Amino acid sequence: MRYSLLTHLECSRCHHHWDSGKLQNVCPDCQSPLLARYDLPAARAELQRESIAARPRGMNRWHELLPVQTPENVVTLGEGDTPLLNLPHLGAAIGLSRLMLKDESLNPTSTFKARGQAAAISRAKELGAQQVIIPTAGNAGGAMAAYASRAGLVARVYMPADTPHSNMQECRAVGAGVVLVEGLITDAARAVSEVVRQGGWFDVSTFKEPYRLEGKKVMGYELAETFAWVLPDVIIYPAGGGMGLVAIWKAFAELEELGWLNGPNRPRMVAVQAAGCAPVVRAFEAGEMTNTFWENAGTIASGLRVPKSYGDRLMMETLYQSHGTAVAVSDEQIRAAQLQLGQSEGIFAAPEGAATVAALPVLLERGWLKNDERVVLLNTGTGLKYLP
Ligand SMILES: *Cc1c(COP(=O)(O)O)cnc(C)c1O
Ligand SMILES: [Zn+2]
Repeated sequence: MRYSLLTHLECSRCHHHWDSGKLQNVCPDCQSPLLARYDLPAARAELQRESIAARPRGMNRWHELLPVQTPENVVTLGEGDTPLLNLPHLGAAIGLSRLMLKDESLNPTSTFKARGQAAAISRAKELGAQQVIIPTAGNAGGAMAAYASRAGLVARVYMPADTPHSNMQECRAVGAGVVLVEGLITDAARAVSEVVRQGGWFDVSTFKEPYRLEGKKVMGYELAETFAWVLPDVIIYPAGGGMGLVAIWKAFAELEELGWLNGPNRPRMVAVQAAGCAPVVRAFEAGEMTNTFWENAGTIASGLRVPKSYGDRLMMETLYQSHGTAVAVSDEQIRAAQLQLGQSEGIFAAPEGAATVAALPVLLERGWLKNDERVVLLNTGTGLKYLP
């Protein structure tokens, strides 16, 4: 069997197929995000989930279902296989008997952004990119810079001037050029587009590059494996660009096609946003398929400060298809939840991760969550990166 079973890229909107053998950003026809497709029938016939379980730990043990074609091109810093922790004390306090947290802060660069960048930078290097560029709310830039350094690529990161200092220092420490932009990630994105238009730089923006999503989908594979291939009832995700949410959902669809899931159930997917920037929640409540730009976005959860995602349609599809929902929580609720999680379970979560804890009482009050459901929170990063 080939090392990777990647076959082509498919447009998420017009469904045209595109060559995965060269560097691609969005669909050349309709400018929508591209999704990686694999020869899943071959995987179903020849690959066993047990053989993947027997391999050395790390994201790359799923290599048949990831884009990199040869092992020499895999750039790794040890990402993946993060722990799934029970939260018995917090669960008892809130009224949930089977509450769990996947702790993504144990990844390289201390956030789950490492997964996406490991896949994207490995594949970009394999396809001949030499210079990579990204607009970021902070953590995606840090991860991109780290993997680019490891791969021997030149990296440039554009971030809002009020991004946490740890993000800037992290990028510089691993050799990336840092450009501070007045405004938000959307302003940084505009600046990056200018540079990209002049040529020579490969853009690894959220949803404008197909393989970051592939790295992030491995969170879904790992969850399925950890739950012995019977998926949990609810997954609660702090959504900025929403790539992880879409990616986990894609992973479940692929596992179903592989015949690897033991139960028929799929989790209900929940997007949590900050009240100061909640375009997904607003669209969900209005029953819309796309988002409108959120004016004057502001929140301490910098990873959630995305006024409009390029993947908004995919995110909304995931919420509707999974019978999920969307919740906004205030910065005050996030701060309180961060303390509660730390004091009850010893986990110092990023504000984004803490936002998922803050969403629990809201969902219980609405009667949307039942007390004995298996609920998984994603702690996407460490609180240590947000210290003043
Ligand atoms: C980027 C980020 C998020 C949001 O992730 P998306 O996939 O863009 O929705 C959440 N938490 C942290 C810590 C992040 O860095
Ligand atoms: Zn298209």
